Amino acid sequence: MIRIENLKKSYKNIHALKGVSFRVPPGELFAYLGPNGAGKTTTIRILSGLTRRSGGDAWLGGFHIEKESLKAKKNFGMVMQSINLDQELTIFENLDIHGRLFNMSSAKRREKIDELLAYVDLIDRKKSLVKQLSGGMKRRLMIARAMVHSPRILFLDEPTVGLDAEIRRRIWGLIKKIQNRGTTILLTTHYIEEAEFLADRVAFLDEGKIVVIDTPQKLMDQTGDWAIDRMDGDKIKTVYFKTRQKADAFIASQQESYTLRRVNLEDSFLSFTGKKVLC
Ligand code: ATP
Repeated sequence: MIRIENLKKSYKNIHALKGVSFRVPPGELFAYLGPNGAGKTTTIRILSGLTRRSGGDAWLGGFHIEKESLKAKKNFGMVMQSINLDQELTIFENLDIHGRLFNMSSAKRREKIDELLAYVDLIDRKKSLVKQLSGGMKRRLMIARAMVHSPRILFLDEPTVGLDAEIRRRIWGLIKKIQNRGTTILLTTHYIEEAEFLADRVAFLDEGKIVVIDTPQKLMDQTGDWAIDRMDGDKIKTVYFKTRQKADAFIASQQESYTLRRVNLEDSFLSFTGKKVLC
């Protein structure tokens, strides 16, 4: 459904993407995980036609993003990082304008908007002005707007940035629900637990290059099962072990005190890239 071959983007002397390749099959939720400036937004902007590529190729639903751009564009919906709703209009009006842009009939728009507002739990607020909504409601509305024209692919660029833990989990539930309807999802995030919870496969992106692609579980398995942390000056020093027994034996042999815990996806990112993800 999404195919990217050797995609490159340079802004003068900044090489934001240095030859990225991956494929996302229908119905998969693929997470693009990396620190600030890794090139996540640049990839989505190129796929959605907002930024021109410097090299390489990409296809959405089999259509080339530049040579067949109109057909490619009908395939996706997009939720940008920043809130780009019309604050002075109502929820209904924001969705209705989007439906008009895709030449949907008035009856079809009304039907689809009601279905989506029920789906994102905003049906009771249909006539509210967007400026009266909370941050979490605005995010849900942006997701609904991206789905008005029934796209087969959804791009989510940091969909939960700035939201508190409870609202973030509610958005995760909504994203899972959308995937369960058969939508292919490309999600960018720098929240490790978001990728761990939602993704079928994860790409670790670092400085414009993909370091590794695999399922969250396989990535974690390659790092180990257990981790022990110790403060070393102002840094945390971590050692990974395949078994709990080996970790316990190591702790018993040391003078300093260590904290034992299970390996998570952040450990995998660190061991594959040598970097910290959360900024
Ligand atoms: P974040 O999590 O902060 O959104 P990101 O992984 O999405 O980061 P990008 O926004 O794709 O990263 O940026 C990748 C690189 O390209 C960065 O070095 C950024 O400064 C640079 N860049 C992005 N857009 C432009 C632009 N319009 N002009 C010049 N440089 C840019």
